[in-house]
Amino acid sequence: MDDHLRTIDPEVFQSIEQELQRQRQHIELIASENFTSLPVMAAQGSCLTNKYAEGYPHARWYGGCRYVDDAEDLARTRVRELFGAEHVNVQPHSGTQANMAVMMAALKPNDTILALDLACGGHLSHGHRLNFSGRFYRVVSYGVHKEHERLDYDEIERLAREHRPKMIIAGASAYPRIIEFGRFREIADQVDAVLLVDMAHFAGLVAAGVHPNPCQYADFVTSTTHKTLRGPRGGFILCRQKYARKIDSAVFPGIQGGPLMHVIAAKAVAFNQALTPEFAGYQRQVVANAQRIAARLQEKGYRIVSGGTDTHLLLVDLRAKNITGKEATALLEQAGITVNKNLIPYDPQPPAVASGIRIGTPAVTTRGMSEPEMDEIADCIDALLLGGDDESARADVRRRVGRLTDDFPLYPEAGA
Ligand SMILES: *Cc1c(COP(=O)(O)O)cnc(C)c1O
Repeated sequence: MDDHLRTIDPEVFQSIEQELQRQRQHIELIASENFTSLPVMAAQGSCLTNKYAEGYPHARWYGGCRYVDDAEDLARTRVRELFGAEHVNVQPHSGTQANMAVMMAALKPNDTILALDLACGGHLSHGHRLNFSGRFYRVVSYGVHKEHERLDYDEIERLAREHRPKMIIAGASAYPRIIEFGRFREIADQVDAVLLVDMAHFAGLVAAGVHPNPCQYADFVTSTTHKTLRGPRGGFILCRQKYARKIDSAVFPGIQGGPLMHVIAAKAVAFNQALTPEFAGYQRQVVANAQRIAARLQEKGYRIVSGGTDTHLLLVDLRAKNITGKEATALLEQAGITVNKNLIPYDPQPPAVASGIRIGTPAVTTRGMSEPEMDEIADCIDALLLGGDDESARADVRRRVGRLTDDFPLYPEAGA
């Protein structure tokens, strides 16, 4: 791609070049990944990386911030418009940093948090014992219902009344259903807790209006920019005006130093793209595609956790097919299909093995694929998992994957 890099550092150049080929030649089904646009990458690869801009627009600690102020103002205005939030902070370096800032702003060490169990689809930054959240706070977790595998709001309410958390967190990394934010708000109000909605995964769906918007219910909303939202790798926070100062000072100087101005400029580009009708159409297709893969796999005898999906992702329980998530992930990878192993609710296997896989459609939908290709992908997955170590089955799927990736090229404008 970049000729300077090719001559000056051929080793790093090669790693980037090979990764580009991998992305082009594989069917990417990791639910938290996407392919951002070339304009986003142009902003992210720009000279804004040189600028120190501690502080916020028009109130920085360094001189020379006039133009980076413009970029951050654009990002803030656009994201506020996108989600209808009262206050925004676009500086968090990642989704985890966004959550850390909210916890720093709203909690004292050893306060209690009520959040979704990692084993039922939660995220490390919601209280895993090795994460800062699990080390600084007391964590109580809720799961999903054993039978219907959806959030059990009565149980969440019972836990809230019993443990009186200071903060309740809604949001997940591997939960395929729409979350009832209104119900979470009622529960939080009953026990005087603040409500954090972490929409890292489904922010793009919210932006497009295909998923309810948490902003009217939550005190704080955190997100990533690189998952369904299809921007650069990063995070942001939306909150009520009354928390604006606390949030801003929790991000800087609380947990971060200088903001990544090149990434903030790239966020501005992505937010602008997300405001377009094309983006809304894209998100509708993302959901339709996930529902299509779920339906096709169900026809072939796979159990889909909770019976289907309302979002961009689905969880496949592989136990009936006598294969673990770990084995399935490796088999699929060999034929060019990338997924991740995933615990299913109340999984008998440890996390490193897992009984399921998580499948997401944001990336394949960005390539332009729709329902017919989802059928083909589901059929390829089934053929591989049935075929086991059979080399001819694998070679056949590899050819079919090659046809799909040739027909829907990634970054064709960027050249070979
Ligand atoms: C991905 C994710 C995050 C964290 O994102 P990073 O940018 O990887 O730190 C936070 N919360 C949830 C629910 C996520 O799925």
